[in-house]
Amino acid sequence: MTRDHLKHELIIQDVLDTPELSAAFDEIDRADFVPEDFKDAAYENLPLPIGFNQTISQPFTVFFMLGLLDVKKGDRVLEIGTGSGWQTALLSFLAGKNGKVVSLERIFELVEFAKNNLSQYSEYYRASKVVHGDGSFGMPEFAPFDKIIAAAAAAEIPKAWKEQLKVGGKIIAPVEHDIIMLQKNSSDDFKKTVFEGFAFVPLVSE
Ligand code: SAM
Repeated sequence: MTRDHLKHELIIQDVLDTPELSAAFDEIDRADFVPEDFKDAAYENLPLPIGFNQTISQPFTVFFMLGLLDVKKGDRVLEIGTGSGWQTALLSFLAGKNGKVVSLERIFELVEFAKNNLSQYSEYYRASKVVHGDGSFGMPEFAPFDKIIAAAAAAEIPKAWKEQLKVGGKIIAPVEHDIIMLQKNSSDDFKKTVFEGFAFVPLVSE
């Protein structure tokens, strides 16, 4: 599949449905985040191996979650599970130069892989950061966040993420085989919406 074919498929699947997401797809090339051995498959609508039993996420899932997250220019975003850095670059583009993305990854080698991939996108990524660590505890030193997104499935949404989210903010995260959207109405009131039928690698807590 070519990049144009993938874009067309994502439009048909209704997940590339805003000018912002369309521009992010055009600006950030997935092929720059795929290991050499899989470059030919970079525009397949599939997850692909990035080593260490991990994957770069499926384009459909990434854009479905980004659509729900609805990042605005200037947002502070926490990402759990950097992987290849592809979604980190998309988030940094969407948050813009006045925004900030902090991304946590537990596998040191993937932190290095992602940073290297992201160096090609320093124009967007300059205000953002990839950090080696366990994302289950969030990143209190950079909190509060407007948006939090996770790429690995927990048994439940960690308390730390709920605490580090601003009132009015949103968490999009997989829990087992569902994607959960939590909207924070007040410090202890969250509106929960469930989207069923996804597959994710597990959130591994130390
Ligand atoms: N969205 C990424 C991309 O497109 O490249 C792919 C992310 S991959 C599906 C999930 C990532 O979550 C893996 O790199 C894994 O190491 C990471 N991960 C799992 N548990 C974690 C934790 N507790 N803290 C931080 N990262 C974690």
